[in-house]
Amino acid sequence: MPLIVQKYGGTSVGSTERIMAVAKKIIAAKSQGNDIVVVVSAMSGETNRLVNLAKEIAEPPNAREFDVLLATGEQVTISLLSMALTEQGCPARSYTGGQVSILTDNTHNKARILEINDQKIRNDLNQGKVVVVAGFQGVDADNNITTLGRGGSDTTAVALAAALKADECQIYTDVDGVYTTDPRVVPDARRLEQICFEEMLEMASLGSKVLQIRSVEFASKYNVPLRVLSSFEDGPGTLITMENNKMEKALISGIAFSRDEAKLTLVGVKDRPGIAAHILTPISEANVEVDMIIQNKGENNTTDFTFTVHRNDYTKALNILNDLKELETKEILGDDKIVKISLVGVGMRSHAGIATTMFRILADEGINIQMISTSEIKISVIINEKYLELGVRSLHTAFGLEEAQKPA
Ligand code: ASP
Ligand code: MG
Repeated sequence: MPLIVQKYGGTSVGSTERIMAVAKKIIAAKSQGNDIVVVVSAMSGETNRLVNLAKEIAEPPNAREFDVLLATGEQVTISLLSMALTEQGCPARSYTGGQVSILTDNTHNKARILEINDQKIRNDLNQGKVVVVAGFQGVDADNNITTLGRGGSDTTAVALAAALKADECQIYTDVDGVYTTDPRVVPDARRLEQICFEEMLEMASLGSKVLQIRSVEFASKYNVPLRVLSSFEDGPGTLITMENNKMEKALISGIAFSRDEAKLTLVGVKDRPGIAAHILTPISEANVEVDMIIQNKGENNTTDFTFTVHRNDYTKALNILNDLKELETKEILGDDKIVKISLVGVGMRSHAGIATTMFRILADEGINIQMISTSEIKISVIINEKYLELGVRSLHTAFGLEEAQKPA
């Protein structure tokens, strides 16, 4: 019998009515002859509520106790959903992460799944039951409750699908798929039928928050077909799989963007071996993630060194640079009014000149490009934040993304 792992996010189980509706969807899928394992998030807003409770007492809260607290959100929804299923005549059983068991490392609040014992689940499936598992949580080797980081239920679902060798992992959410870009910025953005893991990883890391990034990495590593679909309306959603010949192989699959960018520039630093390491070591030691880096030859053996960080880390990074010893630099500049726009598509691999087209389109709109970075399947530019909407819209139109693409 085909095995499907379904995951329902917080809005999908946000009220008892919604939970009853989700139970109906599960029963429909089961009656089509599938074994079903369900992973649920906490009711929408619940994890935030718990986070705030903890902050009223301690900041930061004790990491172990924080996990004990946060894991309760999902325990509410697994039990309610199991009740709803049973009430509608479908035998079901709920498990917390620890009960399954989902074994993780001991990094509280950001644990990684190490191993899943699928025995209990298999037994229940063999008895015709639907199995409902709490997302976002596990236990470490000493039986301490751990959580996987915000949005971690996606990862639970994919990890379970991999462990159970499921035929598909379906992520039900409040959008009906992955779009060519954010429909709030471009109203005629188009839902993609299919996209490959590599593209999805780029889209997710660039700010398309449909899926937790780690869940896509996991799915890609274990080759679990992932489908994103709406729990509110019927439809095929978007299938995320390995790159294959049947794909539409569009030149560009989507335009991702991120508003959370900031850049720092050291003007006229001494151009000597070790300078990049000297600047970036304290930055990474402070757990600040660096994204783009540009260094250029200046005059008199000096160089300008620019890098970008998440906007939340801007002040921290600027303070670190200002405190840096033995740094002969003319000036340290910062700008946290920048955004990043990226074209993503595996079709770019076999096509030259797309970057030039992109720069031309932006130039025609009078948009100045401040930084550029490229990879095989992505071109990113940094621009002033006030041009974000204009930039994304003109690229979307110019590359014809509102229509299904012809093969590259
Ligand atoms: N409830 C957790 C959160 O809000 C996990 C999840 O929903 O995936 O982050
Ligand atoms: Mg989520």
